[in-house]
Amino acid sequence: MEGGTVERDNAAAAAASGVGSPAPGEQIEIRNPATGEPIATIPVDSPESVTATVARVRANQPEWEAIGIEGRYRWLGELRDWLLDNSERVLDTMQAETGKVRADASGEPVYLADLINFYGTRAAKFIGEEAVRPHTPLLASKKLRVQYRPHPVVGIISPWNFPLILALGDAIPALQAGAAVVVKPSEFTPLGLAEVVQAWKGEIGGPDVFDCVHGVGETGGALVDAVDFIQFTGSDRTGRKVMARAAETLTPVSLELGGKDAMIVLDDADLDRAANAAAWGGMMNSGQICMSVERIYVEEGAYDSFVAKLTAAVAKLRQGADGKAFGKEVGAMTSPNQTAIVEDHVGDALASGARALTGGKRLPGPGDYFEPTVLIDVDHSMKVMRDETFGPVVGVMKVRDVEEALRLANDSRYGLSGSVFGARERAERVARRVECGAVNVNDVLVNYATMDVPMGGWKQSGIGYRHGEPGIKKYCRTESVVITRFGGKREPTWFPYTKGRRRLIGRVAQAFNARDPRRRLGLRR
Ligand code: NAD
Repeated sequence: MEGGTVERDNAAAAAASGVGSPAPGEQIEIRNPATGEPIATIPVDSPESVTATVARVRANQPEWEAIGIEGRYRWLGELRDWLLDNSERVLDTMQAETGKVRADASGEPVYLADLINFYGTRAAKFIGEEAVRPHTPLLASKKLRVQYRPHPVVGIISPWNFPLILALGDAIPALQAGAAVVVKPSEFTPLGLAEVVQAWKGEIGGPDVFDCVHGVGETGGALVDAVDFIQFTGSDRTGRKVMARAAETLTPVSLELGGKDAMIVLDDADLDRAANAAAWGGMMNSGQICMSVERIYVEEGAYDSFVAKLTAAVAKLRQGADGKAFGKEVGAMTSPNQTAIVEDHVGDALASGARALTGGKRLPGPGDYFEPTVLIDVDHSMKVMRDETFGPVVGVMKVRDVEEALRLANDSRYGLSGSVFGARERAERVARRVECGAVNVNDVLVNYATMDVPMGGWKQSGIGYRHGEPGIKKYCRTESVVITRFGGKREPTWFPYTKGRRRLIGRVAQAFNARDPRRRLGLRR
């Protein structure tokens, strides 16, 4: 029911923003959201061109797989060095197409370099061949091995909020696993990824196993049809379409979808830390993070003080375009569709009795900005506490106790991540009861940097995992290799069947499988 509501909201917002869906052969116009100025056009790939791109990288994939984990890490190491050496150029492009402030953009190349090293140095442990002992002496003649072979071509469909992290960040483990990769970046932010792909092919001279295609639904659908595994990051609305399309070819999917992350503040929390964390976790990247703090539940003893501190912290944030100066904290909204959704959620809350202690409205242009906003007197009948807002807005509710905080935090169709602030042991106990894929105690968003542990959404926030061992294993198919070390002309279980041999097999099997001496001897109790 609620999914339907969101779909209608988003469709209405898209229509209101006037952003259409360009067809193959047409050009996508990319605008700088901080100024509204057009900055580039990029041609839309037809389904035929998507198929041809996938076929080309597919032909080169066996050689990529054959160079092994170390060989692939060497190439990805070249990409890491290029990203670090060219980070200013990468950040300039990213700021131009997203309207982010410099500080928010600057985390992307660093994360990617760390990720390349993380998987490069751990791939052998995560996806190297495994030796397994047979579970029963009856199979002692068998040598068991599990090898992890990549899906030959992985397709990645990515959103606009972190254009490199959410495209390259999934391409890196897929390439490290030995797959070829084709990315379809968001139509709002394709330039940075295209620049990196260009560098891979040109300056780095990497093998022709990594490419990108551009467009919206038709291009994305063609990619789903052509590849062997699809990694999708985006809204749950599009995620459903991608999964339905992938079902037609039984192509496996991993979906990283939306969130409505809750923060719980206990009355024994360090309220300065909690308020600063809420301001950063809610407003960083203009709140356009799947794991943004969107809802805050505060125990009544801490509520007044926390709200005052949070409002003060948010009210003094500097908003605008800062170029290379690191002079602002909150940048532009990247997609006009999203600004319309944020405006709708805040308007709905204010009309239903909520109050904005700071912010509350869209700013006049140039550029697409929404004020950092703290709402109180909110409840779960309002969109802002129920649906994904994905903007610089937090709603704060007073709760009687931990049980009420948990009931409300878990009252969501999403379950991506969350946070709990309080005295450590108590906060940890509460955190373990939050229904989501990753929960931070006395911190926010940091679980994205702790790539050692997996991250994936519960409920309608996704299927599958990124990071940790599952984050690379998902790009592989297991092949169990069962090798006979010794044996005669035939096994006792083979033809011809004889009564004597079948009885003997039955007795031996019973002797091994029974767990009490009488049954081992073939007797009943
Ligand atoms: P979106 O769903 O509108 O678009 C995502 C991608 O899907 C884009 O590349 C788009 O062109 C493509 N697409 C659109 N229609 C398609 C179709 N029919 N078939 C195939 N591809 C299609 O999402 P968005 O607005 O770009 O991104 C914001 C959303 O992403 C939010 O919901 C946010 O929570 C989510 N997100 C999730 C994570 C996560 O890790 N869980 C991370 C970042 C963003």
